[in-house]
Amino acid sequence: MHPALTFSQHSLSDFQDCPRRFYLRYVAQQVWPAPDESSGGLGQDELDYLRQGRTLHRWIERYWLNISPSNAQWERAPSTLRQWWKHFQQTSFDHLPPIRQPEVELVADLGGHRLYARFDLLAYDEALESVVIVDWKTMGFPQPPGYDFWHKRMQTRVYLYVLVTAGAALFAGRALAPERCSIWYWLANQPEAPWVRVPYTQGEYELDRRRLGELVAEIARRKDEQDFEQTPDQRQCARCVYRLLCQRTSSSTTDWLLDDDLLLPDDIASVQELEY
Ligand code: SF4
Repeated sequence: MHPALTFSQHSLSDFQDCPRRFYLRYVAQQVWPAPDESSGGLGQDELDYLRQGRTLHRWIERYWLNISPSNAQWERAPSTLRQWWKHFQQTSFDHLPPIRQPEVELVADLGGHRLYARFDLLAYDEALESVVIVDWKTMGFPQPPGYDFWHKRMQTRVYLYVLVTAGAALFAGRALAPERCSIWYWLANQPEAPWVRVPYTQGEYELDRRRLGELVAEIARRKDEQDFEQTPDQRQCARCVYRLLCQRTSSSTTDWLLDDDLLLPDDIASVQELEY
């Protein structure tokens, strides 16, 4: 029998995008092949953009702890980061439940394996009438995606499932009904309409449990390197850090999403007995 494994939205997304990438990153723990390839094909401008996104996440986390960036940090900040921060400061959070807790980690059971999630912010009220996961997004989009993109996103499915399954651990054993939970994405690049709210239902929770369970069972069934095939979709390779290893350096794509999660991996190393 395969030992229990720990998964996250990132590792499950990687497996869906390319089983080989999942193997290299989480099983073989292959370091990036060469320094000049560490960006996975990103240019300097794109890397700078992602780093600014990481800094914004740090600033926002500290904001909820009542620590704002110093004048020196602000003066040194690149223009995009300043713009995002200004936008954040102008955003009203009055409609969020009153208790706000940044950087909340949870691990839920999933078919004998573990599913890890780290929420940028968890907002809730005393009675747990509403429990909201908030995620700050600096993603760069060729075109802003519609609601469906956010609803289907692996992060949405994993975070809501983990919150409902394991959330009682945060609230003295009080269970959370799916209908009281939701995830709200705050979009740094859309100041005119910054929020995308994705609610949850019991039916969706059951569906997530089944689909995510099938996915982790499928991964756990694979034992050896040859079980993790390369994706036939070579667009996935264009920004992949392993494209040299896979000899897919000529791959290109036009529908690339500059995902801020690239430089914001889950701190999954903190989960005990980590295998994946
Ligand atoms: S380069 Fe392509 S085939 Fe290789 S791991 Fe990355 S996505 Fe998969």
